[in-house]
Order: sequence, then structure tokens, then C-alpha cells
Amino acid sequence: MKTLKTVRIRSLKLTKRKYEKVAHAIDCFKESMKFLIDKCVENPIFRKVSKKGNVYYTYSSFPKIRKSFYYEWKALFPDLHTHYCHSSARITKDVLKSWNSWCFKKKKRLSNPIYKKNSMKLEECQCYLDRNYIVLVVEPRSTYYIPFTPNEFYDQLKTEKYGEITLRLNDERTVDIFIPFITEVELKEPTSLTSIDVNERSIELITISAHNVKITRVDSSEISTTHYSYSLKRKTIAKNIDNGEKYQPRVRKKLLNKYGRIERNKNKNDIHAMANIICDIVNEENSIVVMEDLTDIRDSSARQKNVTQWQKKKSKHMRRRLNRRNFKQFQTYLDYKATSPGHLVEYENPRDTSRTCLKCGKKTTCTTQIFKCSHCGYSIDRQVQVPINIAEKYLKKKLTQWEEHKDVASSVPAERQLMKMVLGELREFRDLIVRDVSQLDERYPFISFVAT
Ligand SMILES: [Zn+2]
Repeated sequence: MKTLKTVRIRSLKLTKRKYEKVAHAIDCFKESMKFLIDKCVENPIFRKVSKKGNVYYTYSSFPKIRKSFYYEWKALFPDLHTHYCHSSARITKDVLKSWNSWCFKKKKRLSNPIYKKNSMKLEECQCYLDRNYIVLVVEPRSTYYIPFTPNEFYDQLKTEKYGEITLRLNDERTVDIFIPFITEVELKEPTSLTSIDVNERSIELITISAHNVKITRVDSSEISTTHYSYSLKRKTIAKNIDNGEKYQPRVRKKLLNKYGRIERNKNKNDIHAMANIICDIVNEENSIVVMEDLTDIRDSSARQKNVTQWQKKKSKHMRRRLNRRNFKQFQTYLDYKATSPGHLVEYENPRDTSRTCLKCGKKTTCTTQIFKCSHCGYSIDRQVQVPINIAEKYLKKKLTQWEEHKDVASSVPAERQLMKMVLGELREFRDLIVRDVSQLDERYPFISFVAT
């Protein structure tokens, strides 16, 4: 399995001439992005008609963009190296694709996308490593050497293979360099399965091996507290400076930015600490990690006018609270922390996992902490139920996939055997707590961690 880790290094202070050259290259790159985006948006080359007769645009091919506008591009930027066209066409494709999907999601035509970043991502032939230098080609047959001092991460992660390097302009005549190194990691043979459910104030995980089940709760209330207290702080700042006699928009913006930054950094630290605790458990148990697939999570707490028929409308305060949380950030951190030693990370659709009863399997909508089934009357802590349901859903899906493609299954018999045993253990555990919930506290006590 390939893993990709990006290292950020700051260059040494450049000479004025060299810095201006890099700045010029980035300006040209931005201009060429603007040119290509303006050319591509709703160009008849990309138009397609569906079976129903609706017109839509697809921007999925970067060679098509490059081929169509190359000669016009060359006339505009005669001095620039040809590969700048290729690089900017590559990013144009990404920008337009995401813009297109946003238009589709919002069901209206949004204003044309603009490339605002002060950076450029270049192909290997234009920007490459040479000892402790980055070699940058701006015009044909002229190279610029950007020196840097390697830091400890660079020395740790340095490999022969690396991807496209990104350069970002900095003040004080320095340049930020982002180098994605590619490393090959061998997958470890798992002995258990860990399913993780991320909640607003805690993270529940259940680790199932062939003979044992463990439930762990990691306290994450610190994060939501930080979100709340800093939102209050920013609210007061905005209010006071608005009402004051001296209206100073610059001061207001500066203060708001400052507190926003502090909040982000604080949460980042806490999330790292939590991910480290969970990663230690995963390493110890040597398990596959299963998490919820959180794509479109914001849709469920969307604005009232955008809510579809079957979604429940929520109040303004509730929506604000729900949209503040950063679940995905935690998942990304845990993902790379778990994959780098060679554990498998999988995502499972969380639909109905908090609504399905453990005893009878029917669905009940639940709004409180304690889940109570309206069909059979069974009740349990909602946050314990979700990871059990996720693990079962994942195991069932995996086993049916193997049943359907028997030839694939023969290649990994050991894993299949393990999955079967894990599913058996999970069912036994579930039956036990369905018979008597109090056993959950006696035989399987919560192991709690407070993330600090
Ligand atoms: Zn039930």
C-alpha cells in the first residue's frame, strides 16, 4: 500500500532578484489559471446532453483542456516554459470539477471560480530536488536554485519517490516548499476490528477480537467547550466594536482573525491528542479500523430553505452547534496515523446505525441520550449502540462480498476466517447485553480516557 506524506520546509532568505523571479513565475501561473478557467467555463467543447434533454458540462479531462487552448496560451505567454500550461491545466480541471459539483448541489449556477492562492504546483520536470536545493525552471533553459535547510521531518521521510512540489510565496523574501514523499508500507495481518463513532462530546470505540470485546470512551468535550467559548468571545468583540463610537473595521477584523486562529490551533492540538490515544489502542490490538463515512454530513444540518422533504428541520442554534464540529478533521488525522504503520482503514455508510434496535432490528427515531425502542421497549445508551451497529454492518457487507466472489475469497482465507470469528463474537456480545444491560457495566466496564 502506498502512503503519501507531505513535508513543509521554509527556504533560506533569497536574493532580491531570485525572489522577484519566483514571484513573477507565480503571478504568471495565476494569470494562466485565470485565462484557462475563463476559456473553459461553459465552453461548447465540454457540453453534453443527457437522455432527458438536459444540458450539462463535464470537465474531467485535463489533456483536452491543454490541447484545446495551448496555441492561444502560448501566444499570451511566449517566454514561459510550455509545462506551465500543463500544470495549470491540471489544476484548472480540479477547480472546475469541484465548482461543477457545487453548482449541482446548490441547484443553481454559481459565479465563475477564481484561483486566489499565492502558490503553484508544478510538474517534476519544472521543479525538482537536487541535494539541498529546489531547482525551478521558469523560462526554457534557465534554472534557479532555491536553497533550504532540511528539518527533522524531512530527514525522517525522505525517499527517492516524490510527487509534484508546491511553492508558496512568503513575506521576508522566503518561499514555503511542500514536498509529498511516497512510501511503500506493507499491510499488517489484523487480529481484531475496531469500530469508531465520533460524537459531539466523546468518542466511542469498540474493539472486537476473536475472544474478547472491549469498549472504550475517549472524552472530547474539551473541543466543543472551546468552540462555544470562542464563539462567545468573537461575538462580544464584534458587538462592542460595532456599537462603539470609534468604528474601526480594521481593528475588528484583526481581533476576530486572531481569536479564530487561536481557536483553530487549540482544537488542532486536542484532536491530535485524541487521535494519538486511539492510535495506541489500534497498534496494541493490531486491528482494522472502521469509521463512519461522513460525506454530505452538512446536508442534514443545512439551512431551512435547502432542507429536503424527508430531512428534519432544525433551529438556528442547533444548526450552528452541529456545523461547528470538526469530525472529518479527526478522521483524517487518525487515518494517516493508523495507515503509516500498516493498518487498514475502512469507511462504512452510517445510515440508520443510530436508529436500529439491537434486540429486534427495527427502526426507531431517537432524540435523547438513551435509545428506547418503540417496538419492543428495549433501551440502551445510544452511543454504545452505534459502534456495534457499524461493526456488524461492515462485517456483513464484507462477508457477503466474499460469498459472491468466491475466487477472490480464496486468496485471503485467514482474513475471512478471522472476520467470521469476529462476527460470531460480536453477536454473542450483543445477545449478552440484550438479555441484561447491567452486564455491560459489570463484565465490560468502560475504559475512559480524558484527552488533554
Ligand atoms: Zn426493538
